[in-house]
Amino acid sequence: MYPSMISVSEAKEIVLNNATPLTPVIVAIKDAAGLVLSEDVYASTDIPAFNQSSMDGYAFCFNDYSANKQLQIIGEVAAGDNKSFDNFSQKTIRIFTGAPVPDGADTVVMQEKVVVEGDALLITDEQLCKGSNVRPRGSEIKAGSLALKAGTYLSAGAIGFLAGIGTAKVNVYPKPRVGIIITGNELQEAGQPLQPGQVYESNSLTLKAALKQLHIEDVKTAFASDELGVIKQSLEAALTGADLVILSGGVSVGDYDFVLKAAEACGVATLFHKVKQKPGKPVFCGKKDNKFVFGLPGNPSSVLTCFYQYVVPAIEQLINRKGLIEEKQLSLAKRYTKPVGLTLFLKGFYEGNKVTPLGSQESYKLSSFAIANCLICLDEDKSEFKEGDVVVVYKLPI
Ligand code: AMP
Ligand code: MG
Repeated sequence: MYPSMISVSEAKEIVLNNATPLTPVIVAIKDAAGLVLSEDVYASTDIPAFNQSSMDGYAFCFNDYSANKQLQIIGEVAAGDNKSFDNFSQKTIRIFTGAPVPDGADTVVMQEKVVVEGDALLITDEQLCKGSNVRPRGSEIKAGSLALKAGTYLSAGAIGFLAGIGTAKVNVYPKPRVGIIITGNELQEAGQPLQPGQVYESNSLTLKAALKQLHIEDVKTAFASDELGVIKQSLEAALTGADLVILSGGVSVGDYDFVLKAAEACGVATLFHKVKQKPGKPVFCGKKDNKFVFGLPGNPSSVLTCFYQYVVPAIEQLINRKGLIEEKQLSLAKRYTKPVGLTLFLKGFYEGNKVTPLGSQESYKLSSFAIANCLICLDEDKSEFKEGDVVVVYKLPI
């Protein structure tokens, strides 16, 4: 139907084949959440660094203890203390959670399972065995051993683990710095009255919001009128400070669509232009010096659809993390027909394993996107989709 155009899957493959992770950087562990390790991390010390009590109770030497025998309480060790005791024979010390178990002692009885009379301790715990309630030195990790592998996503748990073993800095793939260029002479900022012929500008906010949901916050937005020189200048500037540039509007073949020419004039090599899909058919993707340039068709729904379909896969490669957009196979809640020869992306709402296409699917409308929780992908080659047919669905980040 559109012989010169490529398919959605071809376009995605081109993105993936051309994207490599950004050059790793070293960051403080406090700034590393949400990033991916680019190098293995090894433990520099045993953790725990000492035999540690896991209970409030009494520490003693297990071989010295037998049922019904009393031990003499000779002191106390709290968390953070560093005390030693000469002789543990028939002796015990009061100990608290997190405190170092002194040399000579090897077992802790919890305070609920003892009887204390003056300085005499009688243990009533029959389950107790050697080493009970003691976290041995190095039992979380041993000095020199692998803590986390390169490629690990630094979740809250991972950050805590690394901080807990004393890691101050990590090698990670950085988040991309993104430049957004909004083209269009007709655009007016929300809050200002619309002059005749003007439309409210929404794509910059849509894109910033979508990036924010991916925890990408280093985003600079520029606005360019529909003039080749202006767009070229904006693109040149964006390419110097960003790892990824997203242009909105001006990628079609109208007299005022200058994005492709501007990209060419800036030395951006075209990877693809126009994909057999709706919405977002004129989408452009190019590259300069390892930096992606996406030209997203300006219709608000096209912008967001193309962002999720092409920009997100590129970002996934840059940060070396898959699965930002979860793909599911769900059954269609109602029949849908479309022309053969283009992939249709529908704003949808899924619940359980059923997905319903919403109304208002036209590319200039965003009301359906506003309440959608997924994009439904209807295959290029098929025209008829029956109720119950299994379709691919992309879960939108919320
Ligand atoms: P274009 O891709 O530049 O031909 O624009 C396609 C349609 O999207 C036109 O109706 C534009 O007015 C509209 N449009 C373009 N950019 C924006 C934007 N930033 N915000 C809202 N609508 C836009
Ligand atoms: Mg335009």
